[in-house]
Amino acid sequence: MYFYKNEFMNKADIQLSPDDRGYYFGDGIYEVFRVYQGKLYEQDAHMQRLQRTASEVRLTLPFTIEKIGQILTELVAKNKLIDGTVYLQITRGEAPRAHPFPTQAEPIMLAYCTEVPRPTATIHNGIKAITFADIRWLRCDLKTLNLLPNVMAKQAALDNNVQEVVLHREGTVTECSASNLMIIKDGVLYTHPANHLILHGITRAVVLRLARGLEMPVKEEAFTTGQLMEADEAFISGTTVEITPILEVDGRKIGAGTPGAYTRKLQEEFVRTFS
Ligand code: PLP
Repeated sequence: MYFYKNEFMNKADIQLSPDDRGYYFGDGIYEVFRVYQGKLYEQDAHMQRLQRTASEVRLTLPFTIEKIGQILTELVAKNKLIDGTVYLQITRGEAPRAHPFPTQAEPIMLAYCTEVPRPTATIHNGIKAITFADIRWLRCDLKTLNLLPNVMAKQAALDNNVQEVVLHREGTVTECSASNLMIIKDGVLYTHPANHLILHGITRAVVLRLARGLEMPVKEEAFTTGQLMEADEAFISGTTVEITPILEVDGRKIGAGTPGAYTRKLQEEFVRTFS
C-alpha cells in the first residue's frame, strides 16, 4: 500500500503525471526513515529536517508535520512493516514545464514502505571505498531530489569494485554518496561540520551523541583525504547503513584494515538506541 496525494492506494493505481515538477526539474524534497520493530526511528529529527528543507526551497508542505507523521505511521501499520524503510517525497506539484514556481500547482506527496533487513554483513565486515570529486551544488544540507551527482558517484564506486565513494572538494573530505563519514585518530572522532557542504545526517547526530556519552572527544572539523588515510578507524553513518566500517580507501588500508575498537563500541551503543 502506497500513499499518493491525499489517499492510500495500491501502487498499480497511482497515476503519475509527466507534468510533475519532480520529474522535469527534480523540484522536490524527500526523507528516508528507518523502521525498527514497527516504529519510525528518530521521527522528530527527520520531520524537522523535512520542514527545514521545505522552507529553504520555498515549498509548502501539503499537510502539517503532525498529519504527515500520522500518515506515515498508518502506512507502516497498513503494510505490517516491522523492519524496513519508509520513503517520503514531496514535489512542487504538476504544471506545464516552465522554470518559475507554478501559481496553481498543489504539492504532491508520495510515501511507501520497503521491507529490508539491516545490512548486518557489511556492518560487521566493513566496506571499501574510493575517493571521488564532490561536484555537487553548495546546498548539500538540503535533502532534495537532485541526486544525479550522488548517482554518478555511487556507480563509479561499483565500477571500481568497491561499495562507496569518499567525496572531497579539492582534498577536503565532505561525506559519501548517501552517508556521512567519520574518522577516529588517537581516540578523537572527527567529522565534517554540519554546514552547507554536507547533509546533516540524523544518524550522524545520533553517533555524535553516543560518542559524547562514551566521553570520546568529538571534533566537527573538516579533514583531508591524507588525514583519512592516516586515521586509525573510519566509518560511514546513515539511515540505511547505520555505522559501517570503512576498511580501505583507494586500495590503502585505514588503520589495521579491520573494523576498529571505537567503531565496534559505537555500533553496540547504536543498536541499543532502537532495541
Ligand atoms: N549524506 C547524504 C548525501 C545522504 O544522502 C544521506 C542519507 O541518505 C546521509 C548523508 C545520511 O543521513 P541520515 O543519517 O539522515 O540518513
